[in-house]
Formats: sequence, C-alpha cells, structure tokens
Amino acid sequence: MSFDTLGLIEPLTRALTAAGYTEPTSVQAEAIPAALAGKDLMVSSRTGSGKTASFILPALTLVMKAREQQRAAAPQQQPQHQPQQPRENRETRDPRDQRNEGPRQYTKPRGPRVLVLCPTRELAMQVSKAAMDYGRYVPGLSVATIVGGVPYPAQLKALRGPLDILIATPGRLIDHLGAGKAVLENIEMLVLDEADRMLDMGFIDDIHHIAQSTPEKRQTVMFSATFSGATGGLAKQLLREPQRIDVASHTDTHADIEQRLHWADDFGHKNALLDHILTGREVDQALVFTSTQRDAEVLADRLAEMGHAVEALHGGMPQGRRNRVLQNLRNKRLRVLVATDVAARGIDVPTISHVINFGLPMKEEDYVHRIGRTGRAGRTGLAVTLAERRDFGMIQRIQRFTTQRMPVATITGLEPKRVEPKPTTPRPGFGVGKPAGKSFGPRPFGAKTFKPAGKSFAKKPGPRPER
Ligand code: AMP
Repeated sequence: MSFDTLGLIEPLTRALTAAGYTEPTSVQAEAIPAALAGKDLMVSSRTGSGKTASFILPALTLVMKAREQQRAAAPQQQPQHQPQQPRENRETRDPRDQRNEGPRQYTKPRGPRVLVLCPTRELAMQVSKAAMDYGRYVPGLSVATIVGGVPYPAQLKALRGPLDILIATPGRLIDHLGAGKAVLENIEMLVLDEADRMLDMGFIDDIHHIAQSTPEKRQTVMFSATFSGATGGLAKQLLREPQRIDVASHTDTHADIEQRLHWADDFGHKNALLDHILTGREVDQALVFTSTQRDAEVLADRLAEMGHAVEALHGGMPQGRRNRVLQNLRNKRLRVLVATDVAARGIDVPTISHVINFGLPMKEEDYVHRIGRTGRAGRTGLAVTLAERRDFGMIQRIQRFTTQRMPVATITGLEPKRVEPKPTTPRPGFGVGKPAGKSFGPRPFGAKTFKPAGKSFAKKPGPRPER
C-alpha cells in the first residue's frame, strides 16, 4: 500500500517522500482515512508504530482545507496566512507607530484549529517536530508548543499570533486558559496522545476543563495503550460514536525488540552487569532507566567517572537543560542516557540500540513504553532488565501485562549465585519459576549466555537505590 491511496494532499505526500517513507505503517493505514473522514477515533497502537503521523497528517489536511474554504468564502479579504509577511501583534505594538492609521484596532487572536494534548514536555516537543517535518510544504504553517518549565513570554507571543496547531501539556495550557491567553473556541480537532499516561499523571480534571473550552462540534482522536478503566470512561465522555482502531496493543510481540532478564544477587552485582553491558561494542547508544530522579543522578555520575559519555535526564531538571541533553543524545555526543520514566516519554532516537532497566518501573505499562525507545524506525533493539529478588513481583506483573516472558540470560563470569526466584502460586505454562533447590540448570524460557568482552567489569558496590 502506498500513501497515495490514503487520500492525503500533495504537500503531505511530498513531505513523506522527502522523509524517505514509502508506505504507511499499520496504524497510519487504518487511522488516516478514518480521521480524514472526520470520525472520532480510539486508537491503541504501540509506541514506535508511527502513530504521530497518523494524527498529524489528518490535522495538517484539516488546516489546509480550512484555509482553502476560508479563501473561497472571502476572496476579497486579505488571506490570514501570508508566510512572507512578518506577523505583527497589534496588542503589543507601540501606539506611537499607529499615529497615521486612525483608531487602534484590537485583533482578537483566532486560536488554533487543532489541539494536541501530550502527557510530557518531551513528547509534546517530539510531536511538534513531527508536525513541522510533515508540514514542511504547507505554506506559512504555524505550530506552537506550550509546555511547563519554560518561560511564559515566548508562549504568550505564540498564542497571540495566528496559529494552526497547538501542542501542549495540560498543566501549562490550563495556566494560559485561566489567564485568558489561550483561545480554544476554534478548535476543530482535539487529539489526546497517550491518554492513559495523562490520567496516570493526574490530568483528568485538566483534560475535562480543556475539552469543555473547545467547541462541542469537534473531532476527537484519542490514543492510549489501553481503553479500560478511567481511560475508557474518559473516551465515553469526550468521543462521539468513535471508531475503534486496535493495531498493536501491549500484548503484541515486539518483533524488533529482543528482551532479556538478568537476575542480580544484589546492588553491586547489578552495577557489574550494567558496566559489562555498557562496555559492549554492539552498544550504539543506551538508554538506562532508573526508578527515581536521585538514582538517575547518582548512576550518571558513577558512569561518568568510569569514562562514559553520559548524562542524566529527569523531570526535576530545568527544561532548557533537558533539551540540551536530548540534543546531545541526538547528536551522538552522548552514548549513554540515564533517565526516569517521565523524562523518557517521547524520546525518538533511532540509534538507541539498548534500553536497560536498571531500576524497574513503578507501573507495568511503563515497561512497554521504556522498551519501545529502542527498535524504532525499522531497526532492531535489545531491552535488558536487571532485577533483584525483591523485583520479582513487578517482573511477574510485567509479564502478565505483556503476556510475554522475558527470557532469562546470564553473562559468563557474572552469573548470579542466588537461586532464581519462583512464583509462590505456580501458573501452568507461565512465569519465571523453576524447580526449587536446583541451581541454574536448563533455562525455561530461551535463556542465553554471553561472553564478557574483557575483565574490565569490576564489581563495584554502590548505594542501594531509593524506592
Ligand atoms: P512514532 O510512533 O510516531 O513515535 O514514530 C516512530 C518512528 O517511525 C519515527 O521515527 C517516525 O519518524 C518513523 N515513521 C513514522 N511513519 C513511518 C513510515 N510510514 N515509514 C517509516 N518510518 C516511519
């Protein structure tokens, strides 16, 4: 199937060709025609599946068609979007400049036609980048990103100007709405990206408030790993006769991502396993996850002392610094990034060859998001989980959630001395358990053993991680 069959307009197919995309991904093939037909959508699609384009391309189509209609309806009027002319903000203009222009006219901001809500700053910025990339041949396209942690003035300026697409995290958008600076009365399409995550982060009231500030007669498109529980409730309240698209769920096999589980005897052993993996030549770039911000800082410091090109990334860092770190990752100045879950949402760096779970996620669905940071854009990736005995419960929950087993692996010279944990209530044909009393015999789930590259992985005890 080619993009031409999806009903996209020429400037968009041209941008896709320029990006080197020859055919739509499954979610794009299903969601784009439905979204172009104006339907409300509930889409479950795994991260890395090309879901951003599946809503940004219809959003850009909507923007271009609305402009055409506007021009056709009022041919004598000055077109709203004139890319060559600098945009002038009449509200902030010096009144002395208007001496010969008669009474000053107040131009109410028109507000965007499309609003995309994202759970995190990183994801919002990723979506903005995609909008600019896919919209590169849309003349005068105006996209604004409204996220927390950055100064207000530039955002206020962007909100005052003509705007096609607004991409925002709920908290900061609520601030601007409260101050009367954001206009959402012309929204024609509302997108909730990673809705389940926004609910996890406590944005439910903000989402309702924002949705109520948009016209009732709008198209709403919701992306979520799951539509059970609160997410399903939200979908019922916000969507009208939605079409359900379930291309790939959390239970899909991640064909491009190999998963491995290493049992560690203690924290020192876990550090030694990590050090060994990171010295491997096959590591292009590695994303190491920790459970807490402090763990991320401490681990990044330790790896830097060892000579790795490494930095930490977490939600407690100022946005400017977070952007620089991500830029360094993209420019390959960093080989290792140590991050927490919140900060890692939306990271789309195809050269991440390894995701390493050094600290386990708090929620099992975060495991799926984490490993989805590798194996992107047609590449393969390796997702390694380093677990101590006390992590056994979470390992089981993750396996139940994904309905997949993480094959247990060992590294020669770094095998665990303690017996592998086993479930207390065995589930037939499932789990990581093995008969009690035996040491590591034949591994039940495709276990693998790797030879160390050298002897440079000295066991170095460190502090226990915070939980
Ligand atoms: P997403 O799931 O939207 O984060 O996209 C994951 C990656 O796939 C991004 O790097 C996209 O640029 C890339 N991508 C999106 N659509 C396509 C396509 N049709 N063919 C190849 N790569 C794509």
